[in-house]
Amino acid sequence: MFDSISDKFSGIMRSLAGKSKITEKNVQEAVEEIKMALLDADVNLRVVRRFINGTMEEATGEKVLKAVDPGQQFVKIVYDRMVALLGDEENQKLLLKGPDTTSVILMMGLQGSGKTTTAAKLALRLKKEGRRVMLVAADLVRPAAILQLQVLGEAVGVPVFSLEGEKNPAKVAKAALAQAKKDQRDVLIVDTSGRMHLDETLMDEIQKVRDAISPDETLFVADAMTGQNAVTIAKEFEQKVGISGVVLSKFDSDTRGGAALSLRSVVGKPIKFIGVGEKVEDLDPFYPYRIASRILGMGDIVSLVEKAQSVVDENAAIRMQEKMAKNTFDLQDYLDQLNSMDKMGSIDQLLEMIPGAKGQVSEDDVNTEEIRREKAIILSMTYAERSNYHIMGPTRRKRVAKGSGTTVSDVNRLLKKFEKMRLTMKKLAKNKKYQAEMLKQMGM
Ligand code: GDP
Repeated sequence: MFDSISDKFSGIMRSLAGKSKITEKNVQEAVEEIKMALLDADVNLRVVRRFINGTMEEATGEKVLKAVDPGQQFVKIVYDRMVALLGDEENQKLLLKGPDTTSVILMMGLQGSGKTTTAAKLALRLKKEGRRVMLVAADLVRPAAILQLQVLGEAVGVPVFSLEGEKNPAKVAKAALAQAKKDQRDVLIVDTSGRMHLDETLMDEIQKVRDAISPDETLFVADAMTGQNAVTIAKEFEQKVGISGVVLSKFDSDTRGGAALSLRSVVGKPIKFIGVGEKVEDLDPFYPYRIASRILGMGDIVSLVEKAQSVVDENAAIRMQEKMAKNTFDLQDYLDQLNSMDKMGSIDQLLEMIPGAKGQVSEDDVNTEEIRREKAIILSMTYAERSNYHIMGPTRRKRVAKGSGTTVSDVNRLLKKFEKMRLTMKKLAKNKKYQAEMLKQMGM
């Protein structure tokens, strides 16, 4: 799922993310590419339009174009909109009553959508959470449905209620609820019948089942492989029966993902779970943030952007750029840098979030112990020394080593490293692009 759209998005994002200056035209081009990628993925046209217009409006504002890191700001805007498109984390949970009453979950969907399998997957999931679950075979249309649910029920260790010979699903559901209460089962999952197509009989039947048992959750199972059709059908179910959430089955399949991206927005109901395989364990909660990162093809780089934005004051960044340009960057500035990196959490944690950084950057490059030492050394220096390290003769070096609990060779190493850094900055001072790169390397 999402392979192709993710490839495209990661290309678009990468082309802008590193830029230290972007124009309205850059944004326009990127937005146009995003539009094509969404349409190619079979996302609902109206959803695409809304997404594009909103992004364009937000991304061409002064705040973005004049920012120090406009590329990153753009990535963040697209990411936030993608998350909003997919839903918000708060609404993902099932709304069930406490364990002392019986909650009812009604499963709906077209035949073959994965309804019966999902009912069993959900039963297993809730059972693992400590719930006492009962499954109900109220799909009386498909001949093998009852048997299928019995087999699945056995596999997940959950009893299956059925009424031999009964043709009315609402009656079965009602009897099942009474039984569940008697047996102190606290969750009842009702599998209803599906048809090949939407029809009045199907809707009628489900409405009757719904009225007989007043479900706490009515979950619509949509087959991700059916694309836009799944969106249309979900809308129909929402209008006729009412749905509280969507389960997107066959998320593991190689589809373009348009349905997943349109469902929430068109139907207005949260996607609560995704089916990720044929086995009974293959049901995952749907996490909009994770999926959005995956679509953007950027690992968790967006959390990194957010973190960076929350701690880095833009004026400080501009001042830093000026200092680099004038080559007046001193050890105090370096210390400020180290401290701002600290606020962002451990370096190891940061690396975890950068796709591809693991393995590329060796342990030595981000030696936290070394950073701690460097900070101690700079803190032991006077302000005069920090602003002009050239005055650091052997006596001063010895004093600083002692004061910081390090050795003279630690002090020498830091000063050498700093000197090298300044040289690089001098060389790159006139090259804005590398400057931005450098700032990024330093955790700005
Ligand atoms: P129902 O007619 O809606 O009850 O559909 P079923 O539960 O019988 O599922 C139809 C087919 O889809 C079965 O072969 C399932 O194994 C398969 N299926 C269901 N959910 C998933 C899923 O998340 N991933 C994959 N790969 N297959 C699934």
